[in-house]
Amino acid sequence: MHSIPFYKPSIGEPEINEVVDCLRTGWLTTGPKTKQFETEFARYIQHTHAVAVNSCTAALHLALEAVGLKAGQTVVVPTMTFAATAEVVRYFNATPLLVDCRAADLNLDVADAARRIEAALARGEEVTAIIPVHYGGQIGDAAGVTALAERYGLKIIEDAAHCCPAYYRDQEGAPWKSVGSAAEITCFSFYANKTITTGEGGMACTESQEHADRMRIMSLHGISRDAWKRYTAEGSWCYEIIAPGYKYNLTDIAAAIGLHQLRKADRLHEKRAQWARLYSEYLSEVDELILPKEMPNRIHSWHLYSVRLRLDLLNVDRAAVISKMKSAGIGTSVHWMPLHMHPYYREMLGCQQSDYPCAAAIYPELVSLPLYPDMTPEQVEYVCRTLKEIIGRSRVVISGVDLPVLQSS
Ligand SMILES: *Cc1c(COP(=O)(O)O)cnc(C)c1O
Repeated sequence: MHSIPFYKPSIGEPEINEVVDCLRTGWLTTGPKTKQFETEFARYIQHTHAVAVNSCTAALHLALEAVGLKAGQTVVVPTMTFAATAEVVRYFNATPLLVDCRAADLNLDVADAARRIEAALARGEEVTAIIPVHYGGQIGDAAGVTALAERYGLKIIEDAAHCCPAYYRDQEGAPWKSVGSAAEITCFSFYANKTITTGEGGMACTESQEHADRMRIMSLHGISRDAWKRYTAEGSWCYEIIAPGYKYNLTDIAAAIGLHQLRKADRLHEKRAQWARLYSEYLSEVDELILPKEMPNRIHSWHLYSVRLRLDLLNVDRAAVISKMKSAGIGTSVHWMPLHMHPYYREMLGCQQSDYPCAAAIYPELVSLPLYPDMTPEQVEYVCRTLKEIIGRSRVVISGVDLPVLQSS
C-alpha cells in the first residue's frame, strides 16, 4: 500500500546539526543565525533588505503598517487566496476589496480590479494598496498590476508566500527579475509546507531602508534600535519604545533550519519542477483535467500543482475524487475556497458567490496533487495512475454514444 502525503519537507543532516549547534550555544532566540539568514536570503531573492519574522502573516501585517495603512481605507486583495492576505487588512480596521481571478493562472484579474476600484472610489472609499498573490508560485500579470498601481496611486505589497524562488520578465529576451521587483515590500513564508521552511517563519523584503527599519522596530515591541543588538554583547540594558509594536521576531532555532534550506533552494526548486513536468506528461491526455501551465516569461516555483476537474465530464464531485485518492494512500489539498465564499467575508462584504464568477466556477474543480522534492518518479506515476483510474470509472456516459453495438432493429 502506497502512502504519499500531500507534502513532506526536505530536512537534512545540515539543518539538524545547525539546530543542535544553536541549542548547544544556548542562544535560542533572535541572534547571529537570524542575521545571517536575513543577509543570505536578501542576496538569494535579490532584494536590498530582508527582515526575518515568525510568519508571512506577520510580514504582511508589518508591511501594511510600514506603508501607513489607516483604519477605514481600502486594500485590493484577490478572493482566490489564503486567509492571511485579507485578515492583515482587517487588523487595521481597513476593508479588503476582493477581486476575481483569471482562469489562465488563477492570479488576480487586473481588469476586474480596475472596475472594482472605480466602483469603490465612486462610493467615496480611499483605495491605498494592493496585495497581489502569486498562485502556486507563478507570478501573475506584473505589468498590469504595476500600471494599475500607478493609475490609482496604490502601494504594492506582494504576498510571495509561494515564491521562493519565482521569476518573470517583461518580454522574451529581457532580463529575468525576481519576484517583488515592482513592489514596495514583498513577503515570503517559511511555513512547514512551503518551498523552503523554518517550521514557522517569514521574511519581509524591500529596497527601502525606511520600510526595513520600521518593520524591524515594529517586529519587536516598537523598540527603537537594531533589535538584534539588544541581544548581543554590544547591546545594553537601555532601550526606548517609540510605538506599540508586535512580537514577530524569528528565533535562531528557526533561522538555523532556514540557512540550510536556503542553500539548497535551487536544488529543491529543480526537483519540484521536474515532478511538475512529469505530472503534465502523464496527465496531458486526460480530457477530464485542466492542468496548470507555466505562462510565457515566467519561472514557476512549483509550490503547488493544482489540477482542475472537468466536472461536466464526470459523474463524481471533487470531494469524492479526494476521498478515493485518500483511500489509495494519496494526500491532496484544495487551494483555496475563495475568501468571498467564507462566512466572515460573505457577511462583512455582503457578497454573493456569483459576484466573483471565475473564482466561484473554478473552486469546485480544484485539487492540489502531492508535490515535494523528495518524491520519486514512481510516486508521481502512481498518483497519476490512481487519478486516471478514478476518472476512468467516473466518466459521464453521453447518451447515444455508448449504446450497445448490437441493437434490435
Ligand atoms: C501560507 C500562506 C500565507 C501565510 O504564511 P504563514 O507563514 O503561515 O503566515 C500567506 N499567504 C499565502 C498565499 C499562503 O499560502
